[in-house]
Amino acid sequence: MQKRALVVGLGIAGMSAAIGLRRAGWTPVIVERAAERRTGGYYIFMFPEGVQAAADLGIADHLHTRNPEWRPGGNSWSVDRRGRRKPALGLLDAPSGLAAVLRGDIEAALWQSITGDVVDGGTEDAVEVRFATTPVEITEGTGGVQVLLEDAGTGKQYREDFDLVVGADGMRSSVRRMVFGPDEDYMANWKAMICAFQLKEQVPSYEASDSIIVSRPKRAMWVFGLADHAPCAWLTYRTEDIPDRFAGSSIEQVRAAFSGMDDDPVVRHVLASLDEAPDHVFDSIHQVKMPRWRTGRVVLVGDAAWCMNTYSAMGSSSSLRGGAALGAALQEHPDDLAAALDAYETGLRPYITRQQRSARVKQQRFVPSSRPVQVLCSVVLELIRKVVHRRLTAEYTASSALSGAAR
Ligand SMILES: Cc1cc2nc3c(=O)[nH]c(=O)nc-3n(C[C@H](O)[C@H](O)[C@H](O)COP(=O)(O)OP(=O)(O)OC[C@H]3O[C@@H](n4cnc5c(N)ncnc54)[C@H](O)[C@@H]3O)c2cc1C
Repeated sequence: MQKRALVVGLGIAGMSAAIGLRRAGWTPVIVERAAERRTGGYYIFMFPEGVQAAADLGIADHLHTRNPEWRPGGNSWSVDRRGRRKPALGLLDAPSGLAAVLRGDIEAALWQSITGDVVDGGTEDAVEVRFATTPVEITEGTGGVQVLLEDAGTGKQYREDFDLVVGADGMRSSVRRMVFGPDEDYMANWKAMICAFQLKEQVPSYEASDSIIVSRPKRAMWVFGLADHAPCAWLTYRTEDIPDRFAGSSIEQVRAAFSGMDDDPVVRHVLASLDEAPDHVFDSIHQVKMPRWRTGRVVLVGDAAWCMNTYSAMGSSSSLRGGAALGAALQEHPDDLAAALDAYETGLRPYITRQQRSARVKQQRFVPSSRPVQVLCSVVLELIRKVVHRRLTAEYTASSALSGAAR
């Protein structure tokens, strides 16, 4: 009989894990707290590791990417205190070749596989997904795990047995809380806030696919341009005083954090767009650090296990990689669950630790902690920009000449 796994959470980590489990011959069942699948979402940089993991999971061909075409002079601008714009080094200019997507693009590609649509030229069984369902109690016995599940629609609770529980329920994971302990034991507070949303339209006088950076000590506003979609705004600020994200108006809190900067037209446009945006993400920033991601027959993946946070720009790539790694480990150790879960953790942990460490450095680029750091970052980035843009301009000229000759 096929072994059954309960996967908690229909995000990138949960769907990746379910695909990995299915490939390893398991039967995954996904439960999701929300009543329906979310779509859209904020801007995401996918690193090559994430693109490779998408290929390993067989979803790469279904992943819609939205990188704007590079043009001489670049597509990214930074705006100084006097409102003057100058070319900036965009994250997409990196030679490693990042992919620009919306979170919903990754989830849509994973969903196609989950629903059993054609993947890698073949078909797979659809994965059972139960919406509006959460685990309430997780009890491990000798031969399996018993989970008390609750259907939010009917209020009905029922018990079900599984061979494995995968907690993929995000940074504030309830599986982690129930099985490993309280949030305070694992969530490090980075004393910063994030707000992200889609702009209805680009900031006036910029190209639709331009990216714009307005960075000041302790607060920064980034507009990320896309090839075939309205840009996305990403606002962040450092604060000692982390508000209750559900208390009061998040829009008012963001406005207060950026007060004094709104004489800049970019800032004004973005804040006005926030008022009109149908939805936005507003949250405090944490990193999740755990000594172990598994105990017995319960294992964590994605933000639940190692949330690196938004500054790392690695959360979705590592979630895809985590799901693929879990599946590969179970495939390699079909008759020894403990060995499989150990292999999953041992194989992945060095990469996760490296990325978590580098997030602190990346944070300085996204939102400098002080004026000297801001000046230092801009000098270093400008030097790198000159080299990178020289190379990109040469490549652009060569490819234009080639296509001219072909015509
Ligand atoms: C503004 C912003 C920008 C980002 N930018 C990038 C980027 O550029 N590059 C990058 O790689 N990453 C980025 N990230 C991080 C990335 O989005 C996350 O790391 C990734 O989506 C985590 O996926 P996950 O599946 O682990 O968790 P989540 O996306 O949080 O999904 C968890 C799922 O579990 C469900 N759930 C929660 N509790 C329960 C429960 N009790 N029962 C059932 N279901 C439950 C939730 O509803 C949700 O569907 C960014 C994040 C933010 C907020």
